[in-house]
Amino acid sequence: MPPRESYDWLRAHAVETAYIGSALALLHWDQSTKMPAAGHAHRAAQVASLTGLLHARRTDPRVGEALAKARAELLRDDPHSELAANVREWQRAYDRAVRIPADLAVATARAAALGETAWQRARPGSDWRSFLPYLEEIVRLRREEAEAVGYAGEPYDALLDEYEPGETAAGLEPVLAGLRRELVPLLDRILGAPRRPDRTLLSRHVPLEAQRALCREAAAAIGFDFEAGRLDSTAHPFSTRIGPGDVRITTRYNEHAFDEALFGAIHEAGHALYSQGIPGAHFGTPCGVSVSLGVHESQSRLWENMVARSRGFWRHFLPRAAGHVAALEGVALDDLVLAVNAVRPSLIRTEADEVTYNLHVLLRFGLELALLRGQLQPRDLPGAWDEAMRSLLGLTPPELADGVMQDVHWAAGLVGYFPTYTLGNLYAAQLFEAAGRELGGGAQGLDERFAAGEFASLLEWLRAKVHVHGSRYAPRELMRRATGAELDHGAFMRYLTAKYEALYGL
Ligand code: ZN
Repeated sequence: MPPRESYDWLRAHAVETAYIGSALALLHWDQSTKMPAAGHAHRAAQVASLTGLLHARRTDPRVGEALAKARAELLRDDPHSELAANVREWQRAYDRAVRIPADLAVATARAAALGETAWQRARPGSDWRSFLPYLEEIVRLRREEAEAVGYAGEPYDALLDEYEPGETAAGLEPVLAGLRRELVPLLDRILGAPRRPDRTLLSRHVPLEAQRALCREAAAAIGFDFEAGRLDSTAHPFSTRIGPGDVRITTRYNEHAFDEALFGAIHEAGHALYSQGIPGAHFGTPCGVSVSLGVHESQSRLWENMVARSRGFWRHFLPRAAGHVAALEGVALDDLVLAVNAVRPSLIRTEADEVTYNLHVLLRFGLELALLRGQLQPRDLPGAWDEAMRSLLGLTPPELADGVMQDVHWAAGLVGYFPTYTLGNLYAAQLFEAAGRELGGGAQGLDERFAAGEFASLLEWLRAKVHVHGSRYAPRELMRRATGAELDHGAFMRYLTAKYEALYGL
């Protein structure tokens, strides 16, 4: 086959494969929102069958042959052209898939499923002894996978690359160390401030029907298209792209914490705006999918924190929210904005504020690196965790359930995943700063737009700079083009410092 024909064959093959992935996404959504409990066994069999099909298509030797023919011709021109970018990404995915032996892939999937169940059972009683063998098996298999996939620097890179293409431990370490150096003193200043947020505003009783209306109004205000998406409720909020015209989000409701449902919905809507902004015409090809978890998280965190926790947003939204929520009537704007931005060092990452959140991620990144480098054994994790928690946040977990056993990630085989959360925050701040500069007026200009209920210009900017490109550029290249800067913690610290100096009167 000539190169162009090989490319066309690859594209058709990839689109067919993507339909299977899309069906799996729909099955997962259904399982998390609607499926009756007794359907579990059949659903597990469906998922296993489709996953097997997906794996066979991804490792089909014809893909390797077609890539070899297409590559020779197409990689000669602009490396960022649609064709070249697709070939590059297909090659990356194919290489990874064929380097992992089938028995290792099966063993890892099994260990992850068993590990997640063991974690669910062991966590409530902090039963580390029963959980440890599962975790040891997962760490062993993931190290084996790193060796099979290969790496230029160190084993950790092979795992991180799955979530954040091209990123490495050596690339992240200096950025995260710089972040830590500046975050800890800022946290100390905030904790020493006389101003105290009144968080009881947020625990006022708000009926679920009112919360649902609030979440829908907020998601629609920032641009979530309900003609091309849905909002449902789940135990663990997520966003999923079934395909063009169908992007779904979920949130979780608590009658005495309306902020959880609201910010959960806005976070997921942020992910969904990215998914809705990827051109449907590219469906099934790399130019038609999001580029990395870090870039995805930059979109959710930008809308959740930089937009929806801003004073401008609440100038616009508080009077509207008070229409749905009787408990918000008469609440002063400044009190509410301070309450939704309250800083409190806590044991649990998922409940952390913007200042302490990244310290939780730094803790896990340090431990993961030590595990993969063989400097730390899984059995020694609880002690290492508590020590890091004391040095970063000044807290000691009373129970392992609030410490090393709090997250499902490692139990579910997700090692090398955590840094993408912090990358998301850093990229979000760099994008927000660049958008403020280009749209005019900087952060103040954006705040005025939000106060006027005008979110479309920020969304259009993100669409043009990030969403439309899919995976055309690697994450660092995409961000360089969007912001004109290299990955750095500076924009994030400028954003946090200005925000919290104003909020806490520092
Ligand atoms: Zn997220």
